[in-house]
Amino acid sequence: MGRNWVDPSVHLKRIFIESSCEDLDYTKEIIDRAALPVTVVEDRDRVSIVGGHYPANLTEGKRSLLLCRNEGEFVKDCPGTREYRCCGYRIINTGSGCPMDCVYCILQAYLNTPYLSFFVNIEDLFAELVRKMAAYDGPVMRIGTGEFTDSMALDRITGLSRRLVEFFGGQDKGVLELKTKSAYVDNLCDLDHNGRTIVAWSLNGQAIARGQEIRAAPLDQRLTAARKCVDWGYSLAFHFDPIIVYPGWESEYQNVIDKLFAVVPSERIKWISLGALRYIPSLKQIATSRFPHATIFDHEFIESMDGKKRYFRTLRVEMYKLLYDLLRRRCEERTCIYFCMESDEIWREVTGFEPAERGGISAMLDDAVTAS
Ligand code: SF4
Repeated sequence: MGRNWVDPSVHLKRIFIESSCEDLDYTKEIIDRAALPVTVVEDRDRVSIVGGHYPANLTEGKRSLLLCRNEGEFVKDCPGTREYRCCGYRIINTGSGCPMDCVYCILQAYLNTPYLSFFVNIEDLFAELVRKMAAYDGPVMRIGTGEFTDSMALDRITGLSRRLVEFFGGQDKGVLELKTKSAYVDNLCDLDHNGRTIVAWSLNGQAIARGQEIRAAPLDQRLTAARKCVDWGYSLAFHFDPIIVYPGWESEYQNVIDKLFAVVPSERIKWISLGALRYIPSLKQIATSRFPHATIFDHEFIESMDGKKRYFRTLRVEMYKLLYDLLRRRCEERTCIYFCMESDEIWREVTGFEPAERGGISAMLDDAVTAS
């Protein structure tokens, strides 16, 4: 029986620090909390951090964290594609890599460094946020940290969520989404979040959560953590992504949805996204080399307009219909259920409407944020 993971940061074994970050107060705070062996390295001399070749060294690399400086922008637009409907999301780049190890994780193919990294020059991050929030003239900036990492995976040692939640608590034009598969939410307790943070969990069928999401929290623990956040006054979101076809998938997803609504009051859910498994061809190569027994790619896929492999459209529609109907029956009208990177045709077949009829996905999500 494997370990019951709640906090994946305990998987870390060592910390590296770029020498220019060594004296920052935030760096000291993190190394105090982590209580792990520390090595200082020259700036950008990263070759020595984890030996071996990528991606074989990724398994070991997930135990090493580099504290470093981000010289570029922290806040970016989500890299949607022209061919599919995207949702106008923004990303805060806090670092990259994740101590969990999902077989389907796209980061395995997007990144080429085996170790995790975390940016410690957070004064620059908050200065940029202040500037960008002041210049923002839309209804609500939806922004999240869970794109190149998991939002809460290192939070026990970084404590970044506390700073972000309190920052967004003072903003009237922004809403922060913290997206995770961990169950570590202790830092979110007792914060003045002012309703401006949405805590989100990725959910999946039991067999996928158990067998393909290594070191992620068991589903029950994710939902227990979600319930804690409800009790602390937070709104929530959920992501069924990637939805995967495997024996018994229909009843497994139904069970998860039943459990979700048994634990979480529907009126607290702002949005739920649905996304069927999709991947760039190099991901399959990397994932099957690292996880030779993985079966999730043993299916027929087509190459779609953005170069990603997807299930056939008829199957995607079947999958989405099952989950959408189950969710729509249980959700409040104002909860936005949306598809991540799907076409208008899929939207129409599954829901009976296209996003443009409701102002587009971006406006639908903005409405879900502002609806009380
Ligand atoms: S939790 Fe997210 S970021 Fe971490 S390995 Fe899984 S898919 Fe990747």
